[in-house]
Amino acid sequence: MKRLGLVPSRSFDFRRLVLHHVLDGDTDIQTRYFSFLPEDRLKLTEGVHISRRGERVLVVEPVSAKWTILAAPKKLLQSLKEGVLLGDFFRGAGPEERGRREIMETLYSRGMLSVNGFRQKCRGPIPYPEKYPMFFSLHMAEGCNFNCNYCYMDAALQGQKMSAETARLIIKRIARDLPIKEFTLEFHGGEPLLNFSVIRETMEFALHEAKRYFKRVDFSMQTNGSLIKDEVLTQIKGFPFSLGVSLDGPEMIHNRNRIFPNGKGTFRSVMKGLDLARAAGLDPGVIVVVDDPTTYIETCKFLFSKGVTKFRLNPMACQGRAGTTKEFDAKRPAKFVEEYLKLIDFLVSYKQENPEVFVDIWNINIYILHLMTPYRPFMCARSPCGAGNAIMGFSHEGDVYPCDEFVGRPEFRLGNIRDPGVSLAALIEEHPLCAKLQNRTIETLPKCKACPWRNFCGGGCAAKANDHRGDAWREDPMCEFFSGFYEELAWKIWDDRRLLDLLGQYRRYVSS
Ligand code: SF4
Ligand code: SF4
Repeated sequence: MKRLGLVPSRSFDFRRLVLHHVLDGDTDIQTRYFSFLPEDRLKLTEGVHISRRGERVLVVEPVSAKWTILAAPKKLLQSLKEGVLLGDFFRGAGPEERGRREIMETLYSRGMLSVNGFRQKCRGPIPYPEKYPMFFSLHMAEGCNFNCNYCYMDAALQGQKMSAETARLIIKRIARDLPIKEFTLEFHGGEPLLNFSVIRETMEFALHEAKRYFKRVDFSMQTNGSLIKDEVLTQIKGFPFSLGVSLDGPEMIHNRNRIFPNGKGTFRSVMKGLDLARAAGLDPGVIVVVDDPTTYIETCKFLFSKGVTKFRLNPMACQGRAGTTKEFDAKRPAKFVEEYLKLIDFLVSYKQENPEVFVDIWNINIYILHLMTPYRPFMCARSPCGAGNAIMGFSHEGDVYPCDEFVGRPEFRLGNIRDPGVSLAALIEEHPLCAKLQNRTIETLPKCKACPWRNFCGGGCAAKANDHRGDAWREDPMCEFFSGFYEELAWKIWDDRRLLDLLGQYRRYVSS
């Protein structure tokens, strides 16, 4: 990142204290020129968050999601907090003049400091432009051949399956009702491959309907991997299809939670499916559910050793079966922060030793993206989240929900696909629950509205808050993880910019 530059002035003449804000590689600070006078009043912007480590302070402007780290003595910062005349700010500065200029310039250019009540306007996170969902999660089979300890659906071996007729109705409604140009159908469950024949038929039908309404469709599937067979791979060949497989790490770690109904571990069966998919030329993404964060590094080492370098690391949530089988104590988020930081150190040294390996960890991309840019492309990490505006979920019988994570929670049911006279567009526009979810923002969530990290974090998941706290209109259960991790990561990036290049996959989401 290029440091802000000053147009130099030889003698100390306030009329010539001209700030030249250069465009910075990863932020959006505008190029402008200003001049100031000694009687101008400087004051830190209301709501700016400051956290000190020794001589340095991290300063966060929560509204525009700008941050910086400065070497600023306590007394100097206190004077800016209280408000100070520019002449007094520089009086007696002597050799510190240059440092004080840098403090003033950096804070001003990021909207953290006002001059006579005027502050530089900085662009905040870029709002999500679409009004209607483009991602539809169909619960094809609500049963599962696994009996994982933390299943968010609490799926049992015998579960209902979506009929081909229900799937067709859903697709007709999506293609016909919604003013969108493209959409993704995700086959979810339970284990969706328990209903593969319907999935196959549904894909044919969706391509046909999409063509009829001049839309584009693609498909994705989240599977436990055990039912991936050659016949399945042959039949999905040629479809625009992406695959996600759940694998929690090496055998010992994976088998702690992902088990068959007879209690035996599922690792080998999952690896077999994953290997088959990769041999068939698919590049499945892997979702790792992390129960114990001390296993992060071991899990990454294992995945890298298997050539899996594109994955997600999702902390296990207190949903479904996990609510009864697992402990979620108050120290959990802090433990995740601690271990995540160790993981970052590990990844940096791994990338230094293996520069040719493409490491693409979704969660890390998001945290860095949000710290370094105004882009917020992911529905689960923006405010409001995607529930009822970017995604819809459908149960096996065609009940419609604002997100697949709400499927099976009756208080979040929007209707049924067979309800006469109701379109999906009308549900989005008129259903009071969608309006309420749209209003679940960092400005309305009681804890988030005062949080300095709100425009980085977005307030988290409504469904997880509902399942964990019994109230979807509260902050995410991993709140302290988000605030703690964003802060720690900011310090880390500031102290070692190589991290951005080494873990630079976030850049591909810029201006997407
Ligand atoms: S969930 Fe927590 S970290 Fe995120 S915005 Fe809300 S209060 Fe801040
Ligand atoms: S409810 Fe949760 S899973 Fe659903 S879109 Fe919102 S954040 Fe994502």
